Amino acid sequence: MNDKNRQEENLIIIGGGPGGLSASIYAARNGVAPLVLNGPEPGGQITTTSELENYPGFPEPIGGFELTQQMTEQAENFGVRLKYESAEEVDFSGDKFTVKTEVGEYIADSIIIATGAEPRTLGLEKEDSMRGNGVSYCATCDAAFFRNKEVAIVGGGDTALWEATFLAKFAAKVYIIHRRDKFRGAKILGDRVKDKENIEIIWDTEVKNIKGEKKFEGIRIFNNKTDEERDLDVKGLFVAIGHKPRTECLKGQIELDDYGYILTNKKQHTNISGVFACGDVQDPDYRQVVIAAGSGAKAAIEASEYIEEKENSFPAKEVKMKNHAAEDNSEDSSDKDKKEEGGLSLSLSLD
Ligand code: NAP
Repeated sequence: MNDKNRQEENLIIIGGGPGGLSASIYAARNGVAPLVLNGPEPGGQITTTSELENYPGFPEPIGGFELTQQMTEQAENFGVRLKYESAEEVDFSGDKFTVKTEVGEYIADSIIIATGAEPRTLGLEKEDSMRGNGVSYCATCDAAFFRNKEVAIVGGGDTALWEATFLAKFAAKVYIIHRRDKFRGAKILGDRVKDKENIEIIWDTEVKNIKGEKKFEGIRIFNNKTDEERDLDVKGLFVAIGHKPRTECLKGQIELDDYGYILTNKKQHTNISGVFACGDVQDPDYRQVVIAAGSGAKAAIEASEYIEEKENSFPAKEVKMKNHAAEDNSEDSSDKDKKEEGGLSLSLSLD
């Protein structure tokens, strides 16, 4: 590879959503000068959110795209460099880490992964072509387009239940289509949808197909116990069947949980010393912008400390990181707190 396409960095942040940008701001203020590999589009999932009402500091709702722009501007004011390239492959096996993009190769002392998560799809034939045109993956973003109309939402988890309640504020009627006869989501959310007059739950049912050729004209559903089929002439289909963390570029390089989320401890360490993760790619539970931003700040503080320790240790020591993700599951919090008392040094074993 041409040296021009090979670049050495202290810290590379993969992902330019709220987690990655927040991490970049904290790292830059700690004097680390990070490079953000943003991917081709600015902002991540948040840019598809029309308005945020719950991000602190904004008494009036702020658009997802606008918030990203402001975060980016803030990061650039601290000297953060953003490249609109995607990480395609990583190698975390050496003392320094390698990230390959479609353009070149980067070598870094430390990495923060903030690649986010994307909504799972039903895999229906016209699902993709009707996206944004009848099919949506975000009720918060799109509910207002369906004022006084009938819509369907698929899923039985917390997201579907919460989004159904939100949709019911706008839509004339909301059908919840769930493939089983019991919700997976919290009882309180289930009770809430059962109490709503304009929500109807259709159990044991799945979507067979989307009707309409170019224009969305409703859905055909089927009962998976009786095979009975019928049309539902809704104007919109919301899909809320979970999210898929974006970890394709990590291929076997880092420890993931059963759902593919990166395992981190409470300080955002992964199982690889020097590699940290923040935001939705390691958060199956909340997927909130404020939490992504908070975890980004933590990851950057930890990465900055790691880099400083690495620069100050001469000759270079091999640092073995314990898998706190596993420990998090096996120890009670008082044990963990004792172990982590005093910061990073107690978390590392130096050979
Ligand atoms: P989830 O808990 O994984 O639920 C996904 C739902 O979609 C399940 O009901 C599942 O059905 C259904 N589903 C999956 N694949 C399907 C398919 N191909 N066709 C039809 N249905 C399908 O996902 P989530 O609701 O997005 O929640 C993810 C996490 O975020 C959870 O841990 C949740 O607690 C958390 N969350 C929390 C809040 C909150 O307010 N605290 C809000 C949102 C999310 P089965 O039930 O049959 O598997």
